Amino acid sequence: MERIWEHEVPLRRDLRRLSKRLYRLGFTPGTSGNLSVRLDSKFILATPTGVSKSMLSKEDMVIVDLDGKQYSGSRKVTSEIGMHLAVYNRRPDICAVVHSHPPIATGFACSGRSLDEPLCSEAVMSLGAVPLARYATTGTEEVAESLAEFIPDHEAILMANHGVVTYGKTLMDAFMKMETVEHFAQVNLIAHHLGSATPIQKDQLAALLDARSRYVMNAA
Ligand SMILES: [Zn+2]
Repeated sequence: MERIWEHEVPLRRDLRRLSKRLYRLGFTPGTSGNLSVRLDSKFILATPTGVSKSMLSKEDMVIVDLDGKQYSGSRKVTSEIGMHLAVYNRRPDICAVVHSHPPIATGFACSGRSLDEPLCSEAVMSLGAVPLARYATTGTEEVAESLAEFIPDHEAILMANHGVVTYGKTLMDAFMKMETVEHFAQVNLIAHHLGSATPIQKDQLAALLDARSRYVMNAA
């Protein structure tokens, strides 16, 4: 008989619920995008390949180990699981990963632009700088390699000509970071469109980062 983890059933529900929310936001057109969550230190529950995020059922989710080997599930795991494993294997503190293609943030990633300009205090507080990882062919080892240098110090990364990956302590945490990246991309675009984007000044930024280390990091 297949093993059942203590929190597996509610985590399957959370994956389905947040997949639908991502879809409704327009971040996962077609069958794109994928979400995963840790069951324990060795196993991951993830969304399958080839199903719209709007139509997933709890039973569609699959379980893989940290090498990407499928443990259970009647569907096949997402071909982008390597991106998720790159995060889990480098960050034992991270419990959930969300990957999607939100249009404005992806537009930045397709224009060779990171989101590391400190324009918006909320974004600095919740995300810090969002770097741009170099282009990598989807579904290959190149993806993990392109993300590797950013994973230790960031929890939101733009992927060149592709999309965005975010991660956190919980699925909701990773999901909210994804929402915030897109919101920040939108604000950034408008500020530059207006022609007078004004980044937070150095000393003000230092105070903000200090507050971030005290409040946000401790609250996590
Ligand atoms: Zn993708």
